[in-house]
Amino acid sequence: MKNEYLLLTPGPLSTSETVRSAMLKDWCTWDDDYNKDIVEVIRAKLVSLATEQEGYTSVLMQGSGTASVEATIGSAISQSGKLLVVDNGAYGARIAQIADYLNIPCSVISPGETAQPSLSEIENALSTDLAITHVAIVHCETTTGMLNPIEPVASLAKQHGKVVILDAMSSFGGIPMDIGELGIDFMISSANKCIQGVPGFGFVIAKQTELEKCKGQARSLSLDLYDQWHCMEVNHGKWRFTSPTHTVRAFYQALLELQDEGGIQARHQRYQTNQKTLVAGLRSLGFTPLLEDSLHSPIITSFYSPTNSDYQFKAFYDRLKEQGFVIYPGKVSNADCFRIGNIGDVHPSDIERLIGAIANAMYWEVK
Ligand SMILES: *Cc1c(COP(=O)(O)O)cnc(C)c1O
Repeated sequence: MKNEYLLLTPGPLSTSETVRSAMLKDWCTWDDDYNKDIVEVIRAKLVSLATEQEGYTSVLMQGSGTASVEATIGSAISQSGKLLVVDNGAYGARIAQIADYLNIPCSVISPGETAQPSLSEIENALSTDLAITHVAIVHCETTTGMLNPIEPVASLAKQHGKVVILDAMSSFGGIPMDIGELGIDFMISSANKCIQGVPGFGFVIAKQTELEKCKGQARSLSLDLYDQWHCMEVNHGKWRFTSPTHTVRAFYQALLELQDEGGIQARHQRYQTNQKTLVAGLRSLGFTPLLEDSLHSPIITSFYSPTNSDYQFKAFYDRLKEQGFVIYPGKVSNADCFRIGNIGDVHPSDIERLIGAIANAMYWEVK
């Protein structure tokens, strides 16, 4: 079945017809053709996409991406631990909120939603607050499209002997990185972002020695990261509780398609071309991106809303949807914006058609 419109939303996103078709079969979660031939292949493939270094392993977790973030925060930090979070958007704020829910001591570095964190502020926090054991940061802050400087932040955290947690939900698979080289201990992402699968589970790629320390620490049964991993390890791909079989099978297909495209490098190229085409096209129509070009990821872009007093996001959205494109409302607290995602089965020619559709939709009087 063909889609009636292209989702320019960063998860769920537009998937290929072949990924969607891969869901048309039911699977038994006790059999090797699911556990060994699908789940275990996915786990190994994810590790090899994340790093060339030894000592990493992966665990898949039911739920949306936030469940995997919550599983990691709730399992990795011991009763005597403390978290330092960089918050420059809704997803950084969500990590701090999870810590709060779980009664985990947490301090927050808040540069605001349109700025990157100051390294000296992080350095200062790490050298003065010796209770801090873990540092968490979001790679691409999907709130704005900001790409955070994970390399110097992780390196600083490592110099101080801290465990590093990276929310790479919206970037993994779309931006090349080696988490071993970066010194990341836990990296979290999900099925419905740059790997271009459908929603239903998240995953964590972790340094095995750090994951093993999580044993017995989880603050939730179903979100026990260690136990989930241990069950998959010992039972060759068996999930503890019902696994989202169709989503997992679709994800397997999505990984094959990532490989066919030429891997993460090639996908990154395509996303970058999408993003540059989008920004150039919208600038030519008079729109202004929220962030400076140098802060930008190729994943999603925020634009200031038109200042015309008759502009309404909903009407603009509807006119674009009629023409086959679904865009995203803004999520920045102090600026009126809309967002357009570049990820998914979306190609530069689609972005060019989108720019034409936006030009058609730019009349603001309510008719
Ligand atoms: C999508 C996303 C999440 C997870 O969101 P869910 O709605 O729970 O899937 C977390 N962090 C970032 C940066 C994201 O883009």
